[in-house]
Amino acid sequence: MRKKEIILTSIFILLLVSFSTYFSFIKNKNKQEDLSVMKNEEMETVLSYIKNTKDFKAEYEKFYSQINYHPEHNFFKEINIFLNLQYTPQEINTIYDFLNSKNKEKLLSHEKIEIQNYYNIKNFDVDKIKRYEDYKSIHNCSLEEAILKVNIGLNHDFYTQIEQIEIQEDYTVLVNKYRSLGNYEPSDLKSLSYDEKYKLREKAADAFEELISFAKTENVYIRPYSAYRSFEYQTALYNKYVEKDGKELADTYSARPGHSEHQTGLAVDVWSEGHTEITVNDAKWLSENAHKYGFIVRYTKENEKITGYIEEPWHLRYLGMDVAKDVVNKRLTYDEYYDLYIK
Ligand SMILES: [Zn+2]
Repeated sequence: MRKKEIILTSIFILLLVSFSTYFSFIKNKNKQEDLSVMKNEEMETVLSYIKNTKDFKAEYEKFYSQINYHPEHNFFKEINIFLNLQYTPQEINTIYDFLNSKNKEKLLSHEKIEIQNYYNIKNFDVDKIKRYEDYKSIHNCSLEEAILKVNIGLNHDFYTQIEQIEIQEDYTVLVNKYRSLGNYEPSDLKSLSYDEKYKLREKAADAFEELISFAKTENVYIRPYSAYRSFEYQTALYNKYVEKDGKELADTYSARPGHSEHQTGLAVDVWSEGHTEITVNDAKWLSENAHKYGFIVRYTKENEKITGYIEEPWHLRYLGMDVAKDVVNKRLTYDEYYDLYIK
């Protein structure tokens, strides 16, 4: 009897140990599987995830198996919308790999586009696709160029479809014939040492003093002759020019009120000392050196078509050192640079 008891107890213990080992094995196995799923998540297709959900559509089953899974909100619903819009699995993968979320959202309610033409152009906007295509075919240019020009606004006339600038006090603010400052007035204007009636925003004023000091060490003598101009001042100035030359001509050299860079307190016109203009030599020096102190020559001969202004070698715009240097290195107008790198 005692022997029997020992045997039964031993069997019981043995069974217990076996079971617990077995369950712990199963548990670990599941753990390992979970880990392997996590590790290879980016390579997993939608299929295994969508299968037991209400979003599963049998007719798309073969497509699901070619679309990479992304753990995003509403992902399955979006996939079904894209498939319904006739996007291929490869195109859908491209959309999720390359598009920003704004463009992706817009695509969901847009007719199908040729995504392979657009995905690697960072400044494209789904809302403007039709305008890009039109501009491209009218001007027979590259898609990249069409996108840049349309984004600036050049597919319609200057001073039409004007956008009000939201944050006027950014040092990188873009003001042009499509973008208005309204009656903005900077709060940190500071007089220039040459004459207190000439004012710039503090940072720009300090940088300008440094620029003209540095110029002197290179035997270039320049002085300001116009700096900050208020909305009211610009109104009077522009009206005076219109009276003198007519609207069409005045528009080529004077900004309409709200559209002048001078209203930002970040632009200054300069003359050579002893002259009522900037000399060719001094203009050349400025175009080669102003960026070292955070300024660019904003309106150049090559960029007349983009800016809508004739060449103005005397007009300097403060952007801060890093941006000014980068604009010059990239050889872009500020309008283009803003669309590509600031916006
Ligand atoms: Zn100017």
